[in-house]
Amino acid sequence: MNVLVTGGAGYIGSHFVKFLLKKNVNVSVIDNLGRGHAEAVPDAVEFNKIDLLDFNRLSGYLSHKRFDAVVHFAAFAYVGESVENPALYYTNNVVGSLNLLKAAVKTGIKKIIFSSTCSVYGNPLEVPISEDEPTKPINPYAESKLVIEKILRDFETAYGLKYVALRYFNAAGADPEGDTGESHDPEPHLIPLVLQTALGKRDKIYIFGDDYDTPDGTCIRDYIHVNDLAKAHYLALNYLSENKKSEIFNLGTGKGNSVKEIIDTAAKVTGKEIKSEITGRRPGDPAVLVADNSKAKKVLGWQPEFHLEDIISTAYNWHRNPKF
Ligand code: UDP
Repeated sequence: MNVLVTGGAGYIGSHFVKFLLKKNVNVSVIDNLGRGHAEAVPDAVEFNKIDLLDFNRLSGYLSHKRFDAVVHFAAFAYVGESVENPALYYTNNVVGSLNLLKAAVKTGIKKIIFSSTCSVYGNPLEVPISEDEPTKPINPYAESKLVIEKILRDFETAYGLKYVALRYFNAAGADPEGDTGESHDPEPHLIPLVLQTALGKRDKIYIFGDDYDTPDGTCIRDYIHVNDLAKAHYLALNYLSENKKSEIFNLGTGKGNSVKEIIDTAAKVTGKEIKSEITGRRPGDPAVLVADNSKAKKVLGWQPEFHLEDIISTAYNWHRNPKF
């Protein structure tokens, strides 16, 4: 099988590429390197710097290569930035994906795995969140992902393109072998910021609100290791090859941890003191987001393996010695 990975130089994409290599799958990467890192792509992988917004170059590349499937990670993924600059998100995420899908249809690609997000649920009515929860995005980033899911549905009806959309909860952790990891600039995510504090690169971590309706008052999220996400993409590819039926899956561990629990676990794992300060709530943060992952377990045979301590220790190893 020939697989194209878009955004393969990014955080989750680069972990997936490494996973595919270990499975001896023939993989090629395209990435515009706007936010990804060329060093994240293993030398054994064919890499081309292509922007999804450049339709002619993209479709020329796809028609020349004859891929069986596309795994589409390439996107902007900062909620705050999307609120300030929605045009950037609708252009890059929606138009970029539309170009990719048009090029896929034109060149006979029939299978696509798409990186979606649990933020399509907005403030959920029920937790744990199943795939039947109504979608009500509350920011342009989430809206852009949901629009792409709808385009996928319509492309299936019109052109027979089959898809699996994977709604990730909080991706975290790093490659246990230290070849790739999370390197965002600026870094908005809790675990990297907590670890930068442990490493003395920050004085303290600000806790965004301790007056939520949760046991310790801080927000609860479902942190899922990137390699568990990578494995789910691989299973989704196999699923599409065997079943040819489009599906949507939540990807989380099914277990939630509060901001305070993350800080405490990071202090334990690193053996360092991590200073924190309570500050105001971050606008748009729901109190609790935890996945009901039973569908992915049942249909894909997926089982997340990494525990919170593993997530934090692999991330810590990466942040102590990042390759890029
Ligand atoms: N958070 C925090 N301080 C920070 C960054 C994040 O308290 O400096 C909280 C945030 O309010 C949320 C959780 O940590 O409840 C996870 O945030 P993150 O940005 O990592 O992921 P999100 O859930 O927004 O996708």
